[in-house]
Amino acid sequence: MEFTLTKEEQAFRQEVRDFLRDNLPAATSRRAKRLGYLMHGRELVLGWLKILHSKGWSAPNWPEQHGGTGWTEMQRFIFEEECWIAGAPALPMTALTLVAPVIYTYGTEAQQVRFLPPILKGDVWWCQGFSEPNAGSDLASLRTTAKLEGDHYIVNGTKIWTGGAQDADWGFFLVRTNSEVKAQKGISFLLIDMKSPGVTVRPIISINGEHHLNQVFLDNVRVPADQLVGESGKGWDYGKFLLENERTASAFVNPSKHELAKLHEIATGEMRDGKPLLQDPEFSRRFARLAIEVQALEYSVLRVLTGEKTTYHSIAVASVLKLHGSDLQQKIAELQVDLLGPKALRAFTPEENDDPDRFPVDVEDYAAGRMSDYLIARAATIYGGSQQVQRGIIAKLAFGL
Ligand SMILES: Cc1cc2nc3c(=O)[nH]c(=O)nc-3n(C[C@H](O)[C@H](O)[C@H](O)COP(=O)(O)OP(=O)(O)OC[C@H]3O[C@@H](n4cnc5c(N)ncnc54)[C@H](O)[C@@H]3O)c2cc1C
Repeated sequence: MEFTLTKEEQAFRQEVRDFLRDNLPAATSRRAKRLGYLMHGRELVLGWLKILHSKGWSAPNWPEQHGGTGWTEMQRFIFEEECWIAGAPALPMTALTLVAPVIYTYGTEAQQVRFLPPILKGDVWWCQGFSEPNAGSDLASLRTTAKLEGDHYIVNGTKIWTGGAQDADWGFFLVRTNSEVKAQKGISFLLIDMKSPGVTVRPIISINGEHHLNQVFLDNVRVPADQLVGESGKGWDYGKFLLENERTASAFVNPSKHELAKLHEIATGEMRDGKPLLQDPEFSRRFARLAIEVQALEYSVLRVLTGEKTTYHSIAVASVLKLHGSDLQQKIAELQVDLLGPKALRAFTPEENDDPDRFPVDVEDYAAGRMSDYLIARAATIYGGSQQVQRGIIAKLAFGL
């Protein structure tokens, strides 16, 4: 397997680097670095997306015909890597990677014209309404109903763990349109305006003290029938298509490389017995092991991106990447916090994160956001499908068990 970049890819990397140097505002990257990447939020993310849009780079994963870059998988990987190195905010995965491909693959032309351009321009924030209080791993048992009355669906039910719903303009929901057939066959994919009467968003505060998650209540919400994507009863298939994209994107290689670099920074800055922790044998052993694991994960992702043939089912491969990627994220965050010791406990107020001039002098910049990331990384092995569920998928699809 040869992973040397071609001349064109090297030139592309330089172009991305130059663009980031000239266009990523210092305040944006400073703030993005201090917040855990799940916490970047609407304002920071959409502000950055608008800048990317001015260059035509706001949708790296979309085909050109819909306003995407039309880049190869390798170009996308390089772009993402450079963005992480520069400290750019995360892209809005819910809109760009999850709902948009469903809309341009299964939606009507009218839906594509209505919904895709605002995503490209960074004008809208989307949330994903799949999970319910009694339907997470077992998503097919979801109970939110949508009954067709004339030219509207009347939606009733509740969704939970809905990330970013508090700021969302739109949500894509899996709803039950038919309870007479097999569970999977009665599910449909509906786009709902989050400002519709009957939609209530109740915050759930995470273990890191931040507000990212919510419970969404839908009480007799009237949704125009033309906001149904694809065919009624095919929502399960569209949801599976979407979740496969989510899992492939959830390998977290570039965030892990970024966090590994931060780990190195901490280990160089923190001292024990007059020497940087980097020189401590116990620490270097743990660091080296993680660095090797991150590199192995990167090579596995590159093998997928460069189209290496495999006998394994693509969904099983995506699950392996998700399994390892989320596990590594947790291990790196754990070591960062171990190294920082009590410094990791320094809490940062939103004002301190937002205003660089107010940043405290009692602790190094690299300590910012570490505890928050450590705590929120606990969720990486749950969202997008838990570790146990991924293992079940691998056992079934890769090994036929
Ligand atoms: C930070 C975060 C963000 C999220 N964001 C969103 C979002 O934006 N939109 C959305 O719709 N959902 C979101 N989720 C929900 C997420 O998809 C679910 O939490 C996940 O699918 C697990 O479902 P559950 O929480 O109901 O747990 P359960 O399904 O009840 O699982 C409980 C435990 O049982 C285990 N288990 C369940 N089934 C099996 C099985 N078949 N074999 C072996 N073990 C099993 C699980 O691994 C887990 O350990 C988010 C979750 C988190 C933590």
